[in-house]
Amino acid sequence: MNINSPIQYLKGVGEARAKQFNKLDVYTVGDLLYFLPRAYENWAPEESIHKAPLFTNCCISAVIAEPPVVSRISGGRLLTKCNVTDGETILTLIFFNNPYVADKLKEGEEFLFYGKLNRNLFGGREMIAPRMASLQYSGKIRPVYRQSGKLSSAMIENCVRNCFKNLTAADVPETLPQYLIEKYDLLPLYDALKQMHFPDSNEELFKARRRLVFEELLIFRLSLYFIKESGSLSEGIRLNKDYTDEYTQYLPFVLTKAQRKCISEIAADLSLGKPMNRLLQGDVGSGKTAVAAAAIYSCAKNGYQSALMAPTEVLAEQHYRTLQKLFEGTDIKVCLITGSKTAKEKREAKGQLSVGEADVAVGTHALLQSDVEFNRLGLVITDEQHRFGVNQRAALSAKGDNPHVLVMSATPIPRTLALIVYGDLDVSILDELPPGRQEIDTYKVDSSYRQRIYNFIKKHLDEGRQAYIICPLIDTDEEEDSPDLTAAKQLAEELSEGEFKQYRVGLLHGKMKSSDKDKIMRSFSEGEIQLLVSTVVVEVGVDVPNATVMVIENAEMFGLSQLHQLRGRIGRGQHKSTCILISDDEGENAKQRFEVFCATTDGFEIAEKDLELRGPGDFLGKRQHGMPQFKIADIFTDSKSLYAAQRIAEGILSLDPKLLRPQNAVLKMSVDRMIAEFQRAN
Ligand code: ADP
Ligand code: MG
Repeated sequence: MNINSPIQYLKGVGEARAKQFNKLDVYTVGDLLYFLPRAYENWAPEESIHKAPLFTNCCISAVIAEPPVVSRISGGRLLTKCNVTDGETILTLIFFNNPYVADKLKEGEEFLFYGKLNRNLFGGREMIAPRMASLQYSGKIRPVYRQSGKLSSAMIENCVRNCFKNLTAADVPETLPQYLIEKYDLLPLYDALKQMHFPDSNEELFKARRRLVFEELLIFRLSLYFIKESGSLSEGIRLNKDYTDEYTQYLPFVLTKAQRKCISEIAADLSLGKPMNRLLQGDVGSGKTAVAAAAIYSCAKNGYQSALMAPTEVLAEQHYRTLQKLFEGTDIKVCLITGSKTAKEKREAKGQLSVGEADVAVGTHALLQSDVEFNRLGLVITDEQHRFGVNQRAALSAKGDNPHVLVMSATPIPRTLALIVYGDLDVSILDELPPGRQEIDTYKVDSSYRQRIYNFIKKHLDEGRQAYIICPLIDTDEEEDSPDLTAAKQLAEELSEGEFKQYRVGLLHGKMKSSDKDKIMRSFSEGEIQLLVSTVVVEVGVDVPNATVMVIENAEMFGLSQLHQLRGRIGRGQHKSTCILISDDEGENAKQRFEVFCATTDGFEIAEKDLELRGPGDFLGKRQHGMPQFKIADIFTDSKSLYAAQRIAEGILSLDPKLLRPQNAVLKMSVDRMIAEFQRAN
């Protein structure tokens, strides 16, 4: 067996499971080695039940005190209760809908139980749906894997164990040059991977991760360097005259200082004769579209067309309306191309574009279709850049002759980080909101406030406003090991049949077809849906000024920056808006995050704090949207490594600019692979 062997031939896998693995993008043994745990459990048992910490995950070693009691509860659900003891204190285990567990809980036998320890109404200790294991796991740090369908984390754990039984260090070729491993005191690849899955200790886990993060960030930096270099060689369109002043005359408002600065940075690019490659970063509501419109205006006046692509129909329509408003009174003609336009409408728009009658095409992916032709495409703009792959940007650009590219992103990250992370782009930052915005009130409450929150929402709905409730999960079936998280599907069902029966409740989540998502979003933005229960998918740029309440369930599950994105969905109209975080997490980290979040609405300040608060210990945290998706590194917690990678990359390239030396051959291979990956849709 080697790393290229198909996963199917691994002991314990077989054809059916191989298919399940494929769904997780695991095809070979090597893929499985890189399928890293998403979290870890420390199975070192607490000293006693009595002394174990409450409300957080822990491991308890206990003997089954009496046979389990199985009963049926409301909705036909199966309830299994079992008392266990450490000889001093009784702990009650509770399992829902687990028909097999009762057989395993044999009186007198001792097991390890892992889960969140709670105090019940009578002061006793209980654990809901703990994981259990035999005593041989005592003291082990165990991996937790992302699961899919029938593949549980425990099964994946077994398969990975089998992998390591069959592979020696010689079977896993090293991917970093020996001189770097020595110079920076890194673990060899094989050891690093093994410790990532089955760490001997926290220190070993830290070292393993350090090695993999080092490699990922180094390759990332080197790749960006080559991508940027290849881009800057080509010749581009030179705009002879800047029309910014004329554009501002037509605007219904005065530009902010930040907007003016970004507009002039862009105007300078457009006059250079090289294709612009710029990221425009600005908090939600900072007025990115007005900045983009200035560039569109100048291009149009110089005889060039622009294309503005957004990830969803709702967003495309929104931009279309905004541009029409901004260009009112000018002779700029905007057209809209989306999948749901009628054939006749599309034909008309395409006709206008191909002869140059229309100056701007706003649209979705529909813009990429081959029959969308431009007369003279000079500028390509994509909104919410993380939704588009480099490839799609390139496909749009290919409709012109090396047009300028502007990428807009609403994810504030500290400027220094932005410069590094978006190494292939120049960066302009809108760090100022237009004046006169309504302050949003933010509160953090625990779940005992639920009824009051519902009443609060109803009051707003009765006044004609709309509200969001955001959940961390799509479906309770989705994650067996997070039984106490709120799921959008179940909550939407519950509310629409109960508390909010008199109102129109909608459901939105990431597993819906994109046309269905669009339908729901449209109906919310048209006011038809009053209360939208959703997962974080809603965070991308939607503008529904009538929405004034944002409730976030299990707020501890979201990073600061993500909370900020969510809050940005409200406070966009003339009505007072309120954001409410619900969380029962009393941990220090969550508490600090909530404090910061309630105290400020400045996205860049929040991003800085996020960076500060997420110490290197918290590397098992959640994914951020809008960032390059690293497999292992996290640009926030690993920001220091990111700087280091930049320096090291520069050092390597100064000696070997094209990575042609034999000792750098392994780097070159990885870099080529990453560039190819970049160029495929990401
Ligand atoms: P975002 O950066 O989130 O994309 P938009 O470009 O959608 O922000 O702008 C949000 C709203 O603010 C729009 O309605 C826009 O017309 C308005 N706006 C933009 N710039 C200004 C300004 N300088 N003064 C007042 N309103 C502005
Ligand atoms: Mg926007």
